[in-house]
Amino acid sequence: MRNNHDSGPRDRRIVVAGAGGFIGGALVRHLADRGHTRIVAVDRKPLPEWYQRVVGVTSLSLDLSDADNCRRVVENAHTVYNLAADMGGMGFIERFRIQCLRSILINTHLIEESWRAGVETYFFASSACAYNTDLQKVPTATALKESDAYPAMAERGYGWEKLMSEMFCQEYTAERGMKTYIARFHNVYGPWGTWDGGREKAPAAICRKVVEAKASGQHDITIWGDGEQTRSFMYIDDCIDGILRICASDQLIATPVNLGSSELLSINQLVTHAEQIGGIRLTRHYDLNAPRGVAGRNSDNTFIRSVLGWEPSIPFCVGLAKTYAWIDSQFNARKAGAATVRDHH
Ligand code: NAD
Repeated sequence: MRNNHDSGPRDRRIVVAGAGGFIGGALVRHLADRGHTRIVAVDRKPLPEWYQRVVGVTSLSLDLSDADNCRRVVENAHTVYNLAADMGGMGFIERFRIQCLRSILINTHLIEESWRAGVETYFFASSACAYNTDLQKVPTATALKESDAYPAMAERGYGWEKLMSEMFCQEYTAERGMKTYIARFHNVYGPWGTWDGGREKAPAAICRKVVEAKASGQHDITIWGDGEQTRSFMYIDDCIDGILRICASDQLIATPVNLGSSELLSINQLVTHAEQIGGIRLTRHYDLNAPRGVAGRNSDNTFIRSVLGWEPSIPFCVGLAKTYAWIDSQFNARKAGAATVRDHH
């Protein structure tokens, strides 16, 4: 990973909210590897349930929907990354809209307390679910560009929370002068993420199903929807690289920007990739009543390319092979009785 954009002093206090989760955990590990010495990692989950815990990092189990906890963690901080949200794949966000909406409390308190504490840089993890769903009704839908969020018709619950929290960030810059950054992530995947239990997303779910089919000898797979829904998927390393690049760009202050791959795939193609990695062919069954989300979604990277001269580029087949290998090892560890990331949920 090239990281010339992450060139500030290493002793600034950095807060990562949602650090017990997939992306927050990867960000903490990356910052620690890069030599940052004053990282504060915060998540609501009890510490033993965090996906990754990094030696030398102050790790706190606190609920950040509580203003007092936010005040406590941002004291003397230079940078705050907000990656905390109550979320999951389509199965979760279509079913638990209230939980998704309540994540507004996290950003609302965290940004206010960050501003009061004089934080210099504040990052918010938004989502492609903030985009107008009317533009995503066919699998061949054109890639979404940043202006496509308005007029607003976001994903109910989860997407509206993201859109409102984006607006908070923009107004804290406009009215109060705090530097805020907003990235709209498009489907992030990779090792050390949720792979089982109901919150997992398509790439992890499909890898797990292939691993399970191999282990059981039952060579069937159930796919949610007709498999023709299209998405792009960004490998975790590109996501972390992108977050740091975005936060180093003055042009992107208070400006939502896509952070996603533009390699479009159908879910059926995803299954084919996973089968090839697993060295197996499965009989496909389609559950047309399962949650499937919008019909088609891709990331238009014209804007990020024009500003940063960069965009996520790790090929899906490369990232999926690493993800598959990791899920396979988790599956086998669990079979052997060891604790796994899934057991931590
Ligand atoms: P994740 O579920 O693995 O991590 C989120 C973490 O936030 C969890 O560990 C959870 O315990 C924590 N959290 C929830 N409520 C909290 C609270 N009140 N106080 C403190 N911590 C709390 O999810 P992720 O994939 O790492 O996503 C990180 C961010 O990126 C989220 O804001 C998510 O909405 C956004 N995002 C992710 C994707 C993706 O594909 N993974 C796509 C778009 C947007």
